[in-house]
Amino acid sequence: MSADCIFCKIVAGSIPSTKVYEDADTIAFMDINPVVKGHTLVIPKKHCDQLMLMPPDLLQKVILVTQKIAHAHINGLNAIGLNIAQANGKVAGQIVPHVHFHVIPRFDIDEHERRWHPGKYDNIEEMNQFAEKIRKAVH
Ligand code: 5GP
Ligand code: ZN
Repeated sequence: MSADCIFCKIVAGSIPSTKVYEDADTIAFMDINPVVKGHTLVIPKKHCDQLMLMPPDLLQKVILVTQKIAHAHINGLNAIGLNIAQANGKVAGQIVPHVHFHVIPRFDIDEHERRWHPGKYDNIEEMNQFAEKIRKAVH
């Protein structure tokens, strides 16, 4: 538990939340400001700032619960699609520094259809340079 963390407080019950799922290691609860109504957050109960710091077995559990919630959006809300999003670091738009997966149900083609703008490499060599740096660092 991290003393100032709002999601740790939700896990502890000192801040109320509307839970839709809970097990020994994870909870899923409604996002208070939904991008689309039904927007659900899935978190580990243990505090971890970012995905890269998570023990792999806990990350597996959280991802499997994320899939469970995705099924529930399709079957329970009649969503016809959904987005799963997860931000790491302020630069990526992470506001709450406790790992969370957003599950956002989608019902229509709407203004949220595409939030990222596709870019371009200067040339194939530039893309290969990025690829080579990633290849060397993957282990
Ligand atoms: P981030 O931008 O860090 O990926 O997402 C944080 C999410 O947490 C936001 O979608 C925000 O609406 C949600 N959130 C922030 N504070 C609370 C809270 O106290 N309760 C609930 N249920 N959601 C929260
Ligand atoms: Zn926390």
